[in-house]
Amino acid sequence: MKNEKSIFKGALLTWHQLVNKRLMPWKGIKDPYKVWLSEIILQQTRVEQGTKYYHDFLRNFPTINDLASASEDEVLRLWQGLGYYSRARNLHFTAKDIVKNYKGQFPQSFIELLKLKGVGRYTAAAIASFVYKEPVAVVDGNVIRVLSRYLGIDTPFDTGKGRKIFENKANELLDKENPDKFNQAIMDFGATVCKPKKPSCEVCPLALNCLAYNEYRVSSLPVRKNRVQSRSRYFFAFHIENEKGLAIEQRTDKDIWQGLYQLPLQEVKSYETNLSTQIERALWLTFQENDINYLAHSPVFKQQLSHQKIHIIFVKIALPHPFNDGLNYTYTRNLTKFALPKIFILYLQGKSLILD
Ligand code: SF4
Repeated sequence: MKNEKSIFKGALLTWHQLVNKRLMPWKGIKDPYKVWLSEIILQQTRVEQGTKYYHDFLRNFPTINDLASASEDEVLRLWQGLGYYSRARNLHFTAKDIVKNYKGQFPQSFIELLKLKGVGRYTAAAIASFVYKEPVAVVDGNVIRVLSRYLGIDTPFDTGKGRKIFENKANELLDKENPDKFNQAIMDFGATVCKPKKPSCEVCPLALNCLAYNEYRVSSLPVRKNRVQSRSRYFFAFHIENEKGLAIEQRTDKDIWQGLYQLPLQEVKSYETNLSTQIERALWLTFQENDINYLAHSPVFKQQLSHQKIHIIFVKIALPHPFNDGLNYTYTRNLTKFALPKIFILYLQGKSLILD
């Protein structure tokens, strides 16, 4: 192992020093707030997309105190378009927790960081090693791919056993003197050289000792056991606009888009051939009122979430007057103050109700 470890470490760190040109604005920063923010944003998000959000958050909330003092609506509004909104809610919760219970200071060890809401082993390891130089390995998708191929590990990484194996291997190989550099190097290496598709094996400094490369197994590693099934969901969204503005409501259920705003929505099992009849039924279910003027409907708008494919048909209607609809209205010029799911923004932009 000693030889294997020093060959791997040496080649990786030399590559990092001489070849690695991957630029990211949070690289090398020793402020735990900024590192934490970048890591939460980057979960499930590409660097190119996440960078804008990172800058926007720091501009609006330069310190953890600023983030803790914000309202959840403000945080969700800034997160709009990034998806996985539970990350934003956890981010806000944890900022308040740190201000209230940790005197505004981040915990300084891997174990203590793990106690924060929304901070898993990967994020805790990133903050602990990048900021405090604690020798603990980060294990993300990039690291798993590099280790799986280099060491020829075919245990599925999405099992308890697999997770343990990869975490142990990463910690064995870690450069304990320079955990920050090593962790950054292996993640960048996975992102730019040992890529999921078409890895650059011909120019790879690890190729000589890479088991997958030498045994022609690169394309079959790493191995995943479970593919999460995506389910389809179908909705009608009701576009109601009158002198009071546009009807919107906040989603409070523990479901997709919790805390965000939407047009009044009715879920159905699937769309039927006779759409007009189905829309009338959905209107009755939503408003318990017969005298609703159904004006027009949109084509199907689609959005792929992590495990759900969302379909929405937007239906423009006019409610009878007077009618106690119990809805909240906002003037369209104020719409940008509310966090709305992307699929609603696309529709409203098409109607020129949201201009940015
Ligand atoms: S040789 Fe190919 S598969 Fe092996 S570590 Fe390098 S890039 Fe990855």
